[in-house]
Amino acid sequence: PPIAPASHLDELNTEQRRAAEHDVGDQECGPLLVIAGAGSGKTKTIVHRVVHLIETGVDPRRILLLTFSRRAAAEIAKRVEQISARLMGQQSIVVADALAGSGTFHSVAARLLREFAEEIGLDPNFTIHDREDSADLMNMVRHELGYDRTEVRFPSKSSCLAIYSRVVNAEADLRDVLAKASPQYLGWVDELPKLFAAYVDAKQRQGVLDYDDLLLYWARMVDDPSFAAAIADRYDHILVDEYQDTNRLQASILLALKPDGCGLAVVGDDAQAIYGFRSATVRNILDFPKAFSPPATIVTLERNYRSTQPILAAANAVIGFATERFTKNLRTERQSGDLPQLVTVPDEASQAQYVADKILEAREDGLPLISQAVLFRTAHHSGPLEVELTRRNVPFRKFGGLKFLDAAHIRDVLAVLRWAENPRDRLAGFRALQLMRGVGPKVAAAVLDFTGGFNGLAALDGFEPPSRAAEDWNGFAELVDRLSDTGTGWPTDIELVRHWYEPHLERLHEDAQARLADLMQLEQIAAGFESRQRFLTELTLDPPDAVSDEAGVPRRDDDYVVLSTIHSAKGQEFKSVFVLNTVDGCIPSDLGVGSADDIEEERRLLYVAMTRAMDHLHLVMPHRFYVAQQTRHGDRHLYASRTRFIPPSILPLFESIVWVPARAGEDAPKPRPANRLDLGAKMRGMWGGT
Ligand code: ATP
Ligand code: MG
Repeated sequence: PPIAPASHLDELNTEQRRAAEHDVGDQECGPLLVIAGAGSGKTKTIVHRVVHLIETGVDPRRILLLTFSRRAAAEIAKRVEQISARLMGQQSIVVADALAGSGTFHSVAARLLREFAEEIGLDPNFTIHDREDSADLMNMVRHELGYDRTEVRFPSKSSCLAIYSRVVNAEADLRDVLAKASPQYLGWVDELPKLFAAYVDAKQRQGVLDYDDLLLYWARMVDDPSFAAAIADRYDHILVDEYQDTNRLQASILLALKPDGCGLAVVGDDAQAIYGFRSATVRNILDFPKAFSPPATIVTLERNYRSTQPILAAANAVIGFATERFTKNLRTERQSGDLPQLVTVPDEASQAQYVADKILEAREDGLPLISQAVLFRTAHHSGPLEVELTRRNVPFRKFGGLKFLDAAHIRDVLAVLRWAENPRDRLAGFRALQLMRGVGPKVAAAVLDFTGGFNGLAALDGFEPPSRAAEDWNGFAELVDRLSDTGTGWPTDIELVRHWYEPHLERLHEDAQARLADLMQLEQIAAGFESRQRFLTELTLDPPDAVSDEAGVPRRDDDYVVLSTIHSAKGQEFKSVFVLNTVDGCIPSDLGVGSADDIEEERRLLYVAMTRAMDHLHLVMPHRFYVAQQTRHGDRHLYASRTRFIPPSILPLFESIVWVPARAGEDAPKPRPANRLDLGAKMRGMWGGT
């Protein structure tokens, strides 16, 4: 008899399968919530649910997948494609294409807002400000209104933006936000709305949206039932991964699109909520069941497939002290394994040595670099390790650090393109104009004001350039003229800008050669997008990480160590994980305000870090830890102690190790010969001298 072909669903356990098959084939009703701990197969369940939906006839273009990064969305799409390739052969290409419409809330928002721009009163060519641009625009407005000259200190540009962003994303009251996050500014509670109103006005006049606007406009658009229906009509299924890290606006968007929850599936783990600092709230996941009637089907997963028992026991113990938690402890079948290590080293330099030593030892023992990751609280913590790995010629790639876009020369090129795309975008024009010799802030502002700010590009023509700028003026005017409107085609536009910019590179920035290499790389990235607009949008919303610029390290090798902030390692797994600086002052960080909620978030951060490990986990604690402080005390060294999240009671779950570098003996006196040589005379003697 023919053997029934194995279903991909057979890879799942009963509960996972229940989630993957939830309501498929019925009238598609009732929302689904999968709430479960780390490594329990939540993301895997999403992958199989998507495959299963497609298998049962759902058009993949009618599936919207929302994740926290482009990388995560691409990973899920890739896995769906692999499985469906096995099942359906050629057709799987269609699947991957269709899922390409998925992504982060922000990128999906950008696409929808452009499409509906006319109907909602937006310029379809709007450009997007990243956080740095937003802070700069806030600063301009702040200056115009005179808030930079107040007697009592007004919040800084980034504080203003943070407060604004919190009010918007958390849909919260300004006074509450101030009272909770920055009570020192409560005195400005009546002034801040004026600033924010002017900021909003400036954005609208210039046709720009900031990150928060993307969610805000999307949410406001679907407040209107006819728009909600128009958009909801496109999707039979919406699936959201890492739901614990969404904010109020994101939840309200989902509710507007799927008010009865039909076809809505979200997965998450409240113990891994680490984006509270960006107004994410675990309330979303906890309130999800109540938001619908009939209420959501809740699936909990209790088995961890990722980590060995000793690693899981330690992670469970750490999160066990959390004041509030809803997901249950997990169990694993992977009973054997080493205890996680708690390694004390003298300082950060020896921490780097230790980690590099252990990584190389593990590679000797057959563990490739790519299965090993080093995680840290803040991007700059990996500095000493990067130096050490470079010195030993160990390739690595860093995630979550400096973004490619943060480099001045990249921003220069993008500013020109963005200005061409949207001639009202004042910040872009302001930066672009000043790339010319002899053009400073004053002239740039005058050009932008020349036509009343409607079209800065056009202003270049009529404006009488100052004599010191005469040399560059015409060339630049010609460049922007060619780029204006639809430009010269993509990616030719970016090549034109680079050609124009090259001679200026040396004058504006040091190490022009390395920067030129970056620009070539930017061009390569650009070639992957179908238009200037898509390129600018996607790059701003989800900028690629900066490739490490440490010389001599083969960056794009297949085998490299992953260095990552804990935040960027979300959802991933590695055979071996090192966590740097597991000391008080780092995890939890003492730079934060340090409210009880903040501390709880740091505990979850450590839990996220520990649960990335499959087989080996090393928590490293430098005894002397350098803290860069933004306070009036300046930088200082700390004699650090073990993170408070590992109290003595759970120490038996770890193997404690004290490590001192072998080279520590270098300071001891070394043996010296008793006699003396006059080598100088000897050398001179070689040539017949005396
Ligand atoms: P996180 O909370 O960290 O995002 P997760 O719950 O999304 O984790 P996954 O990443 O989906 O978990 O799965 C963790 C690991 O367990 C993966 O390697 C996955 O392939 C494996 N896994 C999940 N479910 C099963 C299963 N039923 N059988 C075998 N392996 C599984
Ligand atoms: Mg996951």
